[in-house]
Amino acid sequence: MQYLKAHYHVIHPEDFRTWVEQGKPLPSRAVLVTCDDGLVNTLTDMVPILESEAVSCLFFVTGASCRNDPGMLWYEELYQLMRVRPSNGHDLQLPLDEGAHSHPRESFQGAWWNTVRRASLLGANARADWIGRVRSQCEQSQAWPSAGRSERRWRLLNIAELKRLSDAGMSIGAHTLSHPVLSLCNEEEARREMQESKHDLERALGKTVWAFAYPFGDSATMGEREVRLAREAGYTCAFLNVEHWDVTPANVFALPRIHVCSNTTVPELAAHLSGLHNRIQRAVRR
Ligand SMILES: [Zn+2]
Repeated sequence: MQYLKAHYHVIHPEDFRTWVEQGKPLPSRAVLVTCDDGLVNTLTDMVPILESEAVSCLFFVTGASCRNDPGMLWYEELYQLMRVRPSNGHDLQLPLDEGAHSHPRESFQGAWWNTVRRASLLGANARADWIGRVRSQCEQSQAWPSAGRSERRWRLLNIAELKRLSDAGMSIGAHTLSHPVLSLCNEEEARREMQESKHDLERALGKTVWAFAYPFGDSATMGEREVRLAREAGYTCAFLNVEHWDVTPANVFALPRIHVCSNTTVPELAAHLSGLHNRIQRAVRR
């Protein structure tokens, strides 16, 4: 945050909104800070830093955070459950995924992702029932290892916590109801995931939810149809999870983002923000 503030102009999410909606100019070197999923650590770990640096962040949360007991993201829970019991037939009773051959099964990561894809073919309710059955097969009441620190990392914000995040001056965007791979949902289900999460969050917060972030957000998990559905759902703009996108022409419903994870260094972030990383990649490819 301190690097961003020293070298860029960190803007408020609402300034980004007026830029998109009304064309009100942004300062030069404008940077918007966003964060996906709405885990408890957004409130316990991020907000104190954001507040001390006077930065407002746009948080994308799922419709599950409108509930009192949202649990954890199903694909993260699956990952933990598959580690507890690697081969207990998690993927039985799941629809076949035609695109699965492109994801080798040999590695743990590959087996997990194949199961994520197949479970995304189910509707949200059927998927919740299925993960419940996997959980009971593994004899786990919850998949995060133990209480305390790890709960902050794994559990989704509940409705009271989401309101605290919003009351702390943070903007809230939608991230579907249940975080499926959207491109594997049928159109009706994909539309419901995108529209109802907007409506549920608006009802819970009493504010317009104008921004959307695609779950997983890369060309393997979404495409032209999802870009169209985001527009039709009434959002002002929608965010990818990748820096480069050539599936559709650049537009406000396919906004690229620079991904920052726990092991990203400040020099790496600087190289991505400045465009240096992109230029080197292009030069190497040429
Ligand atoms: Zn996400």
